[in-house]
Amino acid sequence: MPASQPRIAICGFSIECNRFAPVATRAHFGYFAGDEIAAEARLPAPRMLGEIPGFVADMDAVGAWEPVGIAFAAAEPNGPVDHQFFAELMTDIESRLTAALPVDAVYICEHGAGITTADDDPDGVLFETVRRIVGPDVPVVATLDLHANISDRMVSTIDCFIGYRTNPHMDMRERGIEAAQTIRELLAGTKTERAYVRLPIVPPTVTMLTAAGPYADMIDFGQTKIGPSAKTGDKPEIMNVSVMGGFAFSDTAKNGLTVVVTARRNRRNQSAAQTVAREIAQFGWDNRERFIPRLTPLNDAIAKAKAASGDPSLPAVCFADVADNPGGGGRGNTMHLLKALHEAKVKNALVGIIYDPALAAEAHRYGLHYQFDAQFNRDETTEFSEQWSAPARVVGLTDGDCVGRRGIYAGMSLKMGPCAALQIGGITVVVVSHRRQCADPVFFEMLGLDIAKARIVVVKSRGHFRGGFDEFFAHEQIVEVDLPGLTSPMLHNFKWSRLPRPVIPLDDGVEWTPPS
Ligand SMILES: [Zn+2]
Repeated sequence: MPASQPRIAICGFSIECNRFAPVATRAHFGYFAGDEIAAEARLPAPRMLGEIPGFVADMDAVGAWEPVGIAFAAAEPNGPVDHQFFAELMTDIESRLTAALPVDAVYICEHGAGITTADDDPDGVLFETVRRIVGPDVPVVATLDLHANISDRMVSTIDCFIGYRTNPHMDMRERGIEAAQTIRELLAGTKTERAYVRLPIVPPTVTMLTAAGPYADMIDFGQTKIGPSAKTGDKPEIMNVSVMGGFAFSDTAKNGLTVVVTARRNRRNQSAAQTVAREIAQFGWDNRERFIPRLTPLNDAIAKAKAASGDPSLPAVCFADVADNPGGGGRGNTMHLLKALHEAKVKNALVGIIYDPALAAEAHRYGLHYQFDAQFNRDETTEFSEQWSAPARVVGLTDGDCVGRRGIYAGMSLKMGPCAALQIGGITVVVVSHRRQCADPVFFEMLGLDIAKARIVVVKSRGHFRGGFDEFFAHEQIVEVDLPGLTSPMLHNFKWSRLPRPVIPLDDGVEWTPPS
């Protein structure tokens, strides 16, 4: 039996890595160690996503426990992680967890789509290390982003695998709470079995929304497998179903839509997890054609923008620059759409948020109302982020300290660094100093800009903007534009080195037979 006041270790490594983006270093990470983890989680606006705060709040609400903070490193999506930094994190986790023994359980808060400059499965390394240190009998539960790419050891070394079920991600806190509930059940004696089935489908991010579409249907179908047993009225046999879409741009051998099922052991049917994982995978396979993306070509997008700009009786339009999504490792600074809108002389448009610290600093030096030639990307140019300049006027300035208002960042303290609003023809462009995806209306509002009055709003985000901007734009008003960029969902645009092949949507004649 567990102690009356269980000691529960908390650790994790949380980043989604795009192999085509520049290397992420220690400087990109928020790093919390020891007692800082629970202390930060208990703040009203913590500097972390909702899983650990949800976990800690639920444990606090239920009874006495002792959080044993180990180490937690989290970053915005970026390129591969500098392996030296990952090795240092692992050393820190190993030494702190070893020193903390005995613990009654471990909660791992992980993204699951990490790669380093030397390892394609750092998440698996972390899970395996935790298991080795605590031994086979201590419950280990992990929460993961549904963009996680799944390895065998990420499933086999833990007791319960809990993936997000919403995209845009809205259920981080709920999943943290689920982890707390699960750990309590495991401490009371429940044992589990896990199974996973991977499909040869690497879904482009835009086909992985959970409000509607093939991925939503697959998740919903999976959830129907959880329910109290009709025969016994007992706890359901299936504890958790996680349908993990994965993150294509990690470009690893473990990519592919993967169903992970955790079942309660000691039931009549020993292979419940395997059976259910296979059924859900079959459902996904039957819907495989629907995972091929359809985006709007730039010319059609510009025609729509001109129409909306000129005719106030038409609905306003939200253009998503899904190919330059900082939430997927994009730099947040490509000019294709801004340039085309400017050339088309559209009016009453908002564009955000462009990552360009040099330009934001320059605007702050000049001050409000100053007119100058705004030069974008003078410091950072990549294959996709070309330089561009245009006459501009400074119409807004802020230090960029804000609290997220809606969607993925709601309630989270955000530091965007010096930010400026620049009027460029009929377009107001928000320039920021810290790279982040435009998932929250606050990034416009902090500069006094009124989203409801704009005819055209451009967001550099793939899907999370939907959770933030849904109060302004219905599904039909959103246009995903086909542009070049590091996070283009048109997967043929990239040179893949490690994805399993053949795979949908890259290859023809892909076949799959369910595992027996
Ligand atoms: Zn994600």
